[in-house]
Amino acid sequence: MMRRKNDNKRYFTRMGTRKKVHAFVRVKPTDDFAHEMIKYGDDNKSIDIHIKKDLQKGFVNNKQTDWSFKLDGVLHNASQDLVYETVAKDVVAQALDGYNGTIMCYGQTGAGKTYTMTGTTENYKHRGILPRALQQVFRMIEERPTHAITVRVSYLEIYNESLFDLLSTLPCVGPSVTPMTIVENPQGVFIKGLSVHLTSQEEDAFSLLFEGETNRIIASHTMNKNSSRSHCIFTIYVEAHSRTLSDEKYITSKINLVDLAGSERLKKSGSEGRVLKEATYINKSLSFLEQAIIALGDQKRDHIPFRQCKLTHALKDSLGGNCNMVLLTNIYGEASQLEETLSSLRFASRMKLVTTEPAINEKYDAERMVKNLEKELALLKQELAIHDSLANRTLVNYDPMDEIQIAEINSQVRRYLEGTLDEIDIINLRQIQEVFNQFRVVLSQQEQEVELTLRRKYTLIDKNDFAAISAVQKAGLMDVDGHLVGEPDGQGFGLGVTPFSAKPGKKAKSKKMFKEQLSTSARKEGASSPVGGKDLDFSTSKTQLTPSSKEGDVKDMLMRDRETSSTEPLPLDSPKEELRPPRPSTPPPKPVAFEDFKNERGSEINRIFKENKSILNERRKRASETTQRINAIKREMDMTKEALNFQKSLREKQGEYENKGLMIIDEEEFLLILKLKDLKKQYRTEYQDLRDLKAEIQYCQHLVDQCRHRLLMEFDIWYNESFFIPEDIQVSLKPGSSIRPGMVPISRIVSLGEDDQDKFSQLQQTELPEGPDSISFYNAKVKTEQKHNYLKTMMGFQQAHRK
Ligand code: ADP
Ligand code: MG
Repeated sequence: MMRRKNDNKRYFTRMGTRKKVHAFVRVKPTDDFAHEMIKYGDDNKSIDIHIKKDLQKGFVNNKQTDWSFKLDGVLHNASQDLVYETVAKDVVAQALDGYNGTIMCYGQTGAGKTYTMTGTTENYKHRGILPRALQQVFRMIEERPTHAITVRVSYLEIYNESLFDLLSTLPCVGPSVTPMTIVENPQGVFIKGLSVHLTSQEEDAFSLLFEGETNRIIASHTMNKNSSRSHCIFTIYVEAHSRTLSDEKYITSKINLVDLAGSERLKKSGSEGRVLKEATYINKSLSFLEQAIIALGDQKRDHIPFRQCKLTHALKDSLGGNCNMVLLTNIYGEASQLEETLSSLRFASRMKLVTTEPAINEKYDAERMVKNLEKELALLKQELAIHDSLANRTLVNYDPMDEIQIAEINSQVRRYLEGTLDEIDIINLRQIQEVFNQFRVVLSQQEQEVELTLRRKYTLIDKNDFAAISAVQKAGLMDVDGHLVGEPDGQGFGLGVTPFSAKPGKKAKSKKMFKEQLSTSARKEGASSPVGGKDLDFSTSKTQLTPSSKEGDVKDMLMRDRETSSTEPLPLDSPKEELRPPRPSTPPPKPVAFEDFKNERGSEINRIFKENKSILNERRKRASETTQRINAIKREMDMTKEALNFQKSLREKQGEYENKGLMIIDEEEFLLILKLKDLKKQYRTEYQDLRDLKAEIQYCQHLVDQCRHRLLMEFDIWYNESFFIPEDIQVSLKPGSSIRPGMVPISRIVSLGEDDQDKFSQLQQTELPEGPDSISFYNAKVKTEQKHNYLKTMMGFQQAHRK
């Protein structure tokens, strides 16, 4: 069955195609056969039942008079031989190929189930399916010398929901497990406690069968049970191993031959007491069997009620599933039994709806598998050896490494890390893996060592332990950003903790490189943005380091830290600063110091400042020249206008000439008009130039102001640092803190010896509040100032002209 096939996925590798359960009917021979009521189809695959009207009274609630049952075959007057051929032969044959098979006989008591299944033990000719199946199995084994096939058998009886081992009387059976239980495992269902007997030949197998049959009869007498009311399951277990050693696969199968209890209905038996109990059990287990069969026949059902009774539970993996399954229904051919016959045929047609998916049960012989793998391993090793010799490699060992070899690799790794070994030769995969493994070992050892060393020297504080951090800060051991402010031995633990893997020597080097990089980038940016200390926070650990207090004087440490720490304000021109001479006892006058400053730390900004200033001056000069030109033009325009006015008054005095509405003027006046027009044009061009220049001047002025501001600010910082602020305090005023020593009012800065215009602008700026809001105010003021200057100049020109 599709829905159950996953149960044993590991074992079923070769799935077959879906197949219907085969249902046959065997009619018990009788002289009183009901020819009028029972008719067989021409193909011998159907039975039609017809009941006469007058007989119908006996069939309660049965209004139907005709039935037709389609089957896989009807066996009427058939010999035991033919029955076996038709019903069992294929199932048994396939069992030897690994397919499970189940053959069940169903029907009312006396209909011939036991006769069909077991046959008569006295007469060989009338032997049933069981002995014939055993015979076929052994005959087929003989035909397959390529396989070592073992056969085992068991014989189980289920009576009143109790399990009986019909072969327990045999001497080879050990102490019986009572009660027997039905156990399920991935391989299938088996009965715990049921004896399973190995039989090497046909005769042994027959002995077992007879033993079982005898026990069945004896038990029915001694235990007072009615044998027709018990179910008997005879199982043949086949296991076939290939005789060629290389094949670790083997197949297993079992053939269940089931002789069910009588299917007659309770009311007819007229039973009482014990018999009633029996009948109830029989009916119950058979109706549970029927329920299971119905469920198996319904493709939509995914739960099959196998565990409702012992019979279906014991047959769980033999009903449907991956089995070849055959149902043989035994019926009477007499009119008096027609009611039971109908009931049996209904069961048979229901069974026909069930489909199975027969599959081979393949398993793996673990022992053989290991042997085969060992063989293959040996072969591959040989192959490797050949490859090694072909590649001219001396004998390489591919076995797992021993302690000495591992220790050698460990030492290689250590030497490699120290730098005393240039490379580790690659030998094989196992060695490469071990090298990596030893890298891990050495790394974790080093980590532990470093941590131990640090713990010996320092008290480690968790970065999230704020109470501890604030206590340390109060004690002055850490700056406000959580950076440690000192180091005890000059080994460079000034910035939180170093990653454990970094070596002290390498670290100092990388620190210096970083510092250089930063100062370079600062230079590249011009001096427009002071490099903030916050950008330098490259502490990597969660844990902070604090020196143990006993380790020395804090101030001492601060002094030393200043020499190496990269968190002090970055010099704008650090290489020069490093050459700075020792600090004098009295500070030099500011103008003198300013000259020094412009030559060292402030050189770059001073250069930019000067550059901007020279551009500004050049623009101013051009503006002044343009203004002069404008004034000259203006003067000439005034003179031309005066001359024109004079000509006009002259003309008016002399009387005007008119020609067709047009004024007649003389040549002199005409030339004057042309000249004035030309002057006006020149004036406009020059005036436009002047306006552009003034905009440029204003922009340059702004740049110059900014540069000056910055220059002075940096100078003040430098001056204070160089001559006033104690060096230990400088550390606590490092970038990142809110206090900067250079934040001194600009008005206090000494005169820079610039031209008057600059001084004027400087004065303006000192009066201005800082911030963007003041810009419009500042611009308006400058414009007014410039306009005033311009008018003043113009007036000057005019006055000069009048003179
Ligand atoms: P069941 O097991 O169904 O109760 P049995 O197999 O015990 O019935 O049959 C009852 C009797 O009928 C037995 O004596 C048996 O030998 C006989 N019998 C049944 N079927 C046949 C048959 N096909 N040919 C000859 N005798 C039969
Ligand atoms: Mg019987």
